[in-house]
Amino acid sequence: KKKALERFFSRMNPMQQKAVFHINGPLLILAGAGSGKTTVLINRIANMIHFGDAYETSYQQEFTPEEAQFIADYAEGRNDDGAQLAQVIGFRPVRPWNILAITFTNKAAGELKDRIANILGEEGKGITAATFHSACVRILRRECTHIGFTQSFAIYDTDDSKRVIKSVMRAMDLDEKMFPIRSIMTEISNAKDSMIGPDEFASEAVGDYRKDTIARIYKRYQAELRASNAMDFDDIICHTVDLFEKQPDVLDHYQNLYKYIMVDEYQDTNKVQFRLVSLLSQKYGNICVVGDDDQSIYRFRGATIENILNFEEEFGCRPEDVIKLEQNYRSTQNILTCANKLISHNVGRKGKNLWTDSGDGEKVIVHKSMTEREEASYIAKIITENTEKGRRYGDHAILYRMNAQSNALEQAMIKASIPYKIFGGLKFYDRKEVKDILAYLEVINNHSDMFRLRRIINEPKRGIGDATVRVIDQIVSDLGEDAIYIMEHSPEYVPLAKKSKALTEFAFMIDDLTDLADISTLPELLDAVVDKTGYGSYLLQQGLEGEARLENIEELKSTMAKYEEEAEEPSLEGFLEEVALYTDIDTLDENGDYVALMTMHAAKGLEFPVVFVAGLEDNVFPSSRSMESDIEIEEERRLAYVALTRAKEELHLVYAGERMIFGNVQRNRESMFLRELPKENIEEQVPKLSEGAAPTANPNLSLGKQIAMYNAAKRSETSASSESYNVGDRVMHKKFGEGTVVGVTPMAGDTMLEIAFDKVGTKKIFANFAKPKKI
Ligand code: ATP
Ligand code: MG
Repeated sequence: KKKALERFFSRMNPMQQKAVFHINGPLLILAGAGSGKTTVLINRIANMIHFGDAYETSYQQEFTPEEAQFIADYAEGRNDDGAQLAQVIGFRPVRPWNILAITFTNKAAGELKDRIANILGEEGKGITAATFHSACVRILRRECTHIGFTQSFAIYDTDDSKRVIKSVMRAMDLDEKMFPIRSIMTEISNAKDSMIGPDEFASEAVGDYRKDTIARIYKRYQAELRASNAMDFDDIICHTVDLFEKQPDVLDHYQNLYKYIMVDEYQDTNKVQFRLVSLLSQKYGNICVVGDDDQSIYRFRGATIENILNFEEEFGCRPEDVIKLEQNYRSTQNILTCANKLISHNVGRKGKNLWTDSGDGEKVIVHKSMTEREEASYIAKIITENTEKGRRYGDHAILYRMNAQSNALEQAMIKASIPYKIFGGLKFYDRKEVKDILAYLEVINNHSDMFRLRRIINEPKRGIGDATVRVIDQIVSDLGEDAIYIMEHSPEYVPLAKKSKALTEFAFMIDDLTDLADISTLPELLDAVVDKTGYGSYLLQQGLEGEARLENIEELKSTMAKYEEEAEEPSLEGFLEEVALYTDIDTLDENGDYVALMTMHAAKGLEFPVVFVAGLEDNVFPSSRSMESDIEIEEERRLAYVALTRAKEELHLVYAGERMIFGNVQRNRESMFLRELPKENIEEQVPKLSEGAAPTANPNLSLGKQIAMYNAAKRSETSASSESYNVGDRVMHKKFGEGTVVGVTPMAGDTMLEIAFDKVGTKKIFANFAKPKKI
């Protein structure tokens, strides 16, 4: 019997098989990256559903040749009669719905489901593969009335939470400067991760003004959430634990449902998650966890390595319940040696050494560029070359420490026409503010673009609601005139008359910007749009968040400047067309072939034939914050270990001599992690001296400078051109020719002129942009 089952799992090595067949009781699989932990988990689930406890309970018996044949047929898909199989080999199968498999990210959960469905077909779909959060939400939706929520409770994301904390602080008359919201949110979140409620938090804070204040915020924050029938992300797990602790019968139900529990990436669980898992597995004790202490990278979120270290004691493991895997099936020896050497610089670890029999492979490439833009184009170049040699785009991943690094990388992908997808962060052109501003530009370019118009007509708020927009829509289709024209004439249409003030104002603004588009550069137009539409001040009212959004809009200017530099006949229309091509890539379908861009944190558990790790500079990676403490450096080093071990065949570690980040140029030396790698296994590529000549030789760098210069120039221009105009002045306009000023209205930092032009009639224009000359 044993042999037949083993044949089904013959791809697994003996230690892996041991884990696959061990389905009852606690099981700890502790092993390094790429040693097949997740693969074991998947095969273990397949074993449970196919053969249940056959291996454990009845392995003494021998099969008759007929039985062996039956199993072989079943294993190889020639026969799918599971019931008959169960009868033949006499086992109790595990029902799919009795299995709960928890992983760390939605992407990983999705992959787990796919891989199980691949082995098991339809039956595989019955298992629950979820993240801690999605599993708990599912439970809470059904049971939350027990703890005082109604079923339709809302889940607040970080932005929502921030808003609530803000209002709580306002009510308490607290200064955001003294108590930065971000740090308060972190403290509250940390408390929740350790299951410390507001009262306990307060009792620990006695005598500490800051902590005590946070305790009070925490308390009111929780009360607010409850009053709104809402939970934040951390609450989702805390409330589930709370539910199970208070309602034994509910707990019992879920214990019976999830008889077999598995947790992947166990090294990154925190205290509440541990509590949850131990509650659920208490009754049957069938709990299998899989992890690698060297890949623990969420300490900052309260993950505790103790969960792994104490597992054996906590769940009563016997020696045979702990399985270690040492053979790596993912990477070449050169990659592995680098990763092993790197992580060996951490003290305080359960030492292990991975080996592989897949050969040395290529050396790991360490490449230096002058700037972050060159770094990005180096990566794009290698990807293009690789695809010419037959690799797919999807074979490549680019990993970085911070989301902010993705911009330069995205630009390079776009420029090289490489399809890409960003995970765990929005693509530049997907960001709301960028989409909004582009929608304005589209409407300016095409007054009939109802689709874009709808997006921005009330953004920022102008008191123009959906009902009004529907009326406009109707009139547009009845009369065949464009929407802006209809709005200009809104007083003439009865259903619009009430809103005509807001509508005409909006329409005139678009008209003016349309005129401006003909005579200004694109960055100038963008500035005017941000300014005149009120979008800029609307963002500025939103504090730091809004400023960051404004920066993204500024970033759009660099794309514009570049376009104007390169296009033969630059125009707004041409620019929008180009952008439309970029954004086309956005709609790339999920199964398409694309390069994956993500942070190293998000890459956990994944693998790619070719991996680039970007920004390997001190103060970037390891991050500047971490460079002051050994403990934090060790966490960063584990993160580096995760990043390096994602690569199967080709690994490029890249860094730049100079990097523009958050609008500042930083110069950092190469990362200490690079200096820790074994020289024999890497190939260093440092540019020759001539490449690093004067910065002017670098067109990419000059773009940043160009924008800075442009901004400076614009500022001085603006002040220089504040010529005053009076009604009756005769003026000369670059495009519309001569005319007489008939109206002068000062507006935030500018003046709107109404000019009766001799040839083209009356137009409204902004003085600082159009700069009509007095004659
Ligand atoms: P990580 O620590 O990064 O999560 P892991 O230990 O979960 O890694 P897996 O992702 O399960 O490792 O496996 C790594 C690679 O090795 C996968 O491509 C998998 O298909 C392959 N693999 C695992 N076990 C074997 C085996 N016995 N024979 C051949 N290939 C294997
Ligand atoms: Mg894994």
